[in-house]
Order: sequence, then structure tokens, then C-alpha cells
Amino acid sequence: ADGEPPRRVAVLGSSGSIGRNTIEVIRASGGRLKATVLSAHSRLDQLIEQAELLKPKFVVASDEQAAAEQSWKKLPKGTELLVGPKGLEQAASCDEVDVVLAAIVGAAGVRSTLAALKAGKTVALANKETLVTAGPLVRKMLDAERKKNPAAPERLLPVDSEHSAVFQSMACGRRDEVEKIFLTASGGPFRTWAREHLAQVTVDEALAHPTWDMGPKITIDSATMMNKALEVIEARWLFDTPAERIQVLIHPQSIIHSMVEFVDGSVVAQLGRPDMKLPIQYALDYPRRLAGPAERLDWTRMHELRFEPADFDRFPALALGFEVARQGGTSGAVLNAANEAAVQSFLEGDLHFTEIVPACRSILEAHDYEANPTLQRLEELDLWAREEIHSWVCA
Ligand code: NAD
Ligand code: MG
Repeated sequence: ADGEPPRRVAVLGSSGSIGRNTIEVIRASGGRLKATVLSAHSRLDQLIEQAELLKPKFVVASDEQAAAEQSWKKLPKGTELLVGPKGLEQAASCDEVDVVLAAIVGAAGVRSTLAALKAGKTVALANKETLVTAGPLVRKMLDAERKKNPAAPERLLPVDSEHSAVFQSMACGRRDEVEKIFLTASGGPFRTWAREHLAQVTVDEALAHPTWDMGPKITIDSATMMNKALEVIEARWLFDTPAERIQVLIHPQSIIHSMVEFVDGSVVAQLGRPDMKLPIQYALDYPRRLAGPAERLDWTRMHELRFEPADFDRFPALALGFEVARQGGTSGAVLNAANEAAVQSFLEGDLHFTEIVPACRSILEAHDYEANPTLQRLEELDLWAREEIHSWVCA
């Protein structure tokens, strides 16, 4: 690491939970990481504060209207303002960036992530929705590249803690020696709730996650276990693994972040406190491991690590995730958009907790499946699925 120039990082979604953790990692890096781009959608005062601290080359205010209403007087000299989704794509692919930390929530993060990949940047991916919706396109791009240059280092690196754990565990063997991927799940706030009680879940109950402190969308996804469903799809594309080789395990302590079983039966796992700074830093510094601010496990205390099989009856999102991982094509984009709209409706009090997954299923089953969609087609279906949820809610 000594003598190397700093890695220049674009933090897309810097005002969010992952974004703020990323800034902590960068600030603790002693200069080896430098934030050259920061972006936020609506919390623009916070974006300006972050800019004052980190003096990036660009800030992006992705909500154009909020940008127009904001006073930019305090923006440091030398920091340039970009706006809107186009501003995000420009910043993600600009010369002043080596690594893009993709931490925008939802399908809103797809285009900037794809722009970064197309521009040849290394992408540290928190935005799992990119692989859920556009997994087939990303896979094709990376496979073509790998064929041309088999020795090139990975440049799509997971930040999602499970996928980071799988990625780290996979380093103990060759990819073709991996037989199975175990994705662990905390089980969320309703792990032990009876089916009848789930129908009565309130927004506040669903927003109270037992082990992770995250943005509202992924917190609701964790409560329905749609988050794990999306992670199965994410793993399918990221590791180019068929759904049959992926299994979900409930592990309430969130200490084993996921595991890999090799063909000889050996299981390798990655452990740590539930602290996103660790996978964030691993992705930003990859392939190096350096001292950092992530919290440590205390091995002088007693720990219990428990595992339970996942309950597909109480959490029907899981079956949906495996189906979509098997189908590929347009299914991921439809499931993702339906889920985003359904979660929004639940948060607004317009949909019961237990309606989120059935609504997603019915829209997925009604859609016009295509095996090899273009990005434009995926975006059309994204809009269509959101409208379908809207009619479902109004019906
Ligand atoms: P968050 O809600 O805390 O932050 C979201 C960020 O996206 C904010 O900076 C916000 O300004 C920005 N944003 C929102 N809407 C936007 C839009 N339309 N256009 C551009 N930017 C927009 O979310 P989070 O918890 O930090 O999650 C971010 C991503 O990371 C999600 O894809 C999530 O699934 C993934 N992830 C999060 C965690 C976690 O611990 N929080 C763990 C694993 C994966
Ligand atoms: Mg995760």
C-alpha cells in the first residue's frame, strides 16, 4: 500500500446508512481512500456538510427539484455541483474516480452502477437491486470481459454482508470447487411470530430490526424476508451460481455472515460483528486487508451461534426469490419494482404487511416474460409493475 496513490471513491448515496458508514471508513483510512464524488437525493444539507468535510471533486444532487431549492453557498470552492440522474451517471464514470461505492437504494441506483461498470470502474456494490433487475445484462458484460482477459482482477465486489462473506470464503478454493452457498439471515423482527400475528404487523414493528441498523426499504425487506429473496437473486448473478446451489439458513445472531461448502464437504464461513464498515472496507481496499474502524468480536464473552431452517410458509418471499433466480430474464426487474412499490404502500399505510408478497407474486405471474431483455425493456417493465401495484392498492 505504501507509496500508492489514494484510491478515489465515488460514494453514490452518501447520505444513507451505507453511505455514512463508507464515509467513516474513508475518514479512518489515513488518506489511502479519498472521496471524490458524493451524492444524495434529498438530504442536501447533509450532503453539503459531507462536502465541507471531504472536499470532493463533485457532489451530485440527484433530485433536481430539491437541488433547485437548495442554497449551495456553503459548497467548498473546487467542488462542482451536478444534478439529476444524468449527473449521477456522469460522476460514476468520470476520470477522477477509481471505485464506485454504489449505495443508492432501489432501482434508482441501477443506471449509475451500469455506467460505472461500462466505464471500466471497479464497483463496490451495496445496491443489490442492480443485480436483481439487470443481473442478466451485468453477467453478460462481465463474462465477455473475463473471456478476453481471464487474469484480470474482479471488479464487481460485493458490499452486501452475505455476499462479501461468500466472496471471502470462496478465496479458500477455486470457484469450480464450490458446491454450495449458504446465505445466513437474522430472520428479522418476526422470526418467531405466528402466521396469524403477521397480518397485524404495524409499520413501527416492521422498522425495528433486531441486529442491523439500515435504511427503511431494506429494513422492511428484512421483515418480509424479501431481502433474503433479493440476495438469492443477487448471489445467482454475482457468483454465476444456479439457484439449486444456494440455500438460506436462519442465524439470529448475525455473526456468521454466510458460508460456502466445497466439493470435499468442507464448510468455510466468515464471521464478524454486524457492522457494515467491514464489508465496505474489504470491497474498497480489495484485495488488501488493512486495519480499520469495524467493531471486533469479543471472544472473552460467551457466544451462541444458532441455526434454524428457513420457514417458507410464514415467509413466502423466499420461494419467490428462488423462482426468480431460476427464471432470470425479466423476472427480477418485475419482482424488484413490484416490491419497491409495495413496500412504499405499506409504509404509507395503504397495504397490509402480509399483502406485500402476494401482490408481488401476482404481478410477477401476470407479466410478459422475456428471456433476453434489453435495459430499455427492463425499465418499461419496472414502470408497469409499479402501476400494477398501484391498481392493486386502489382495488
Ligand atoms: P438509505 O435509505 O439509508 O440510503 C439510500 C441512499 O440513496 C440515500 O443517500 C438517498 O439520498 C439515496 N437515494 C434515494 N432515492 C434516490 C433516487 N431516486 N435517486 C438517487 N439517489 C437516491 O439506504 P441504505 O440502507 O444505505 O441502503 C442502500 C443500498 O444498500 C440498498 O440497495 C440496500 O439494499 C443496500 N444494503 C444496505 C445495507 C445496510 O446495512 N444499510 C446492507 C446491505 C445492503
Ligand atoms: Mg445483506
